[in-house]
Amino acid sequence: MPLDLILLGPPGAGKGTQAKILSQRLGIPHVASGDLFREHLRQRTALGQLARQYMERGELVPDAVTIQMIRGRLEQEDCRQGVILDGFPRTPAQAKALDELLTGMGRSLTAVFYIQIRDEFLIRRLAGRWTCQVCGAVYHVEFNPPRVPGRCDLDEGPLYQREDDTEEIQRRRIQVYHEQTAPLVWFYRERGLLVEIEGERSVPEVTEAMIRAIQLQRAADP
Ligand code: ADP
Ligand code: AMP
Repeated sequence: MPLDLILLGPPGAGKGTQAKILSQRLGIPHVASGDLFREHLRQRTALGQLARQYMERGELVPDAVTIQMIRGRLEQEDCRQGVILDGFPRTPAQAKALDELLTGMGRSLTAVFYIQIRDEFLIRRLAGRWTCQVCGAVYHVEFNPPRVPGRCDLDEGPLYQREDDTEEIQRRRIQVYHEQTAPLVWFYRERGLLVEIEGERSVPEVTEAMIRAIQLQRAADP
């Protein structure tokens, strides 16, 4: 059975950081809706033009286009053994669409990792975030600095700060998370899929907690 995982949590919780590591360790792709939108922005596609106005304000891109974009990605060959979803779903409508999408493929979610972290930690994490322009690896000036300042450890690509990582937009994104995405915690808890992860721990500790949860799940449902 494919391993279909969701990483759920506020902006700055560590979803992208963990998704990259898990993707390496588990051999399944990391599918991040935010990364897909940023790629559309770079390529100047019509979808990118549409998404820009929402992203610049820290608002959510409308469900219909977001769902369509993710559907296209999940139908690609490399997702057949499973995916690690990061930043999707973000609304109840997206969660329901994902259920239908996976059901249509004869699949169902393995687990939803809910990365718990207090709001006061988020701004500090987002403000210090630097991302590799080449491979998307995520660093933090203080908590996870690259070996050479401004350069990626993996491919020496230049590091950049995201345009929506200004404090004003960060605060809006956190607010939008509480209003529109946090209800998914109950949605998945009711379905018995939610695994709570202590997100204030170190990067390797969070990874190990997730790997342990996957092993337990596999042992229970091989
Ligand atoms: P998200 O994808 O949830 O928005 P990121 O993975 O981009 O979050 O992480 C946000 C910032 O916090 C990055 O700069 C990252 O290096 C840092 N970070 C991620 N996980 C941890 C952690 N467990 N402890 C300290 N800093 C972390
Ligand atoms: P992220 O990279 O996950 O922090 O997302 C960056 C921005 O992309 C968000 O602030 C939204 O504007 C947009 N976005 C990403 N994922 C979604 C989604 N699932 N639904 C709607 N908008 C999204």
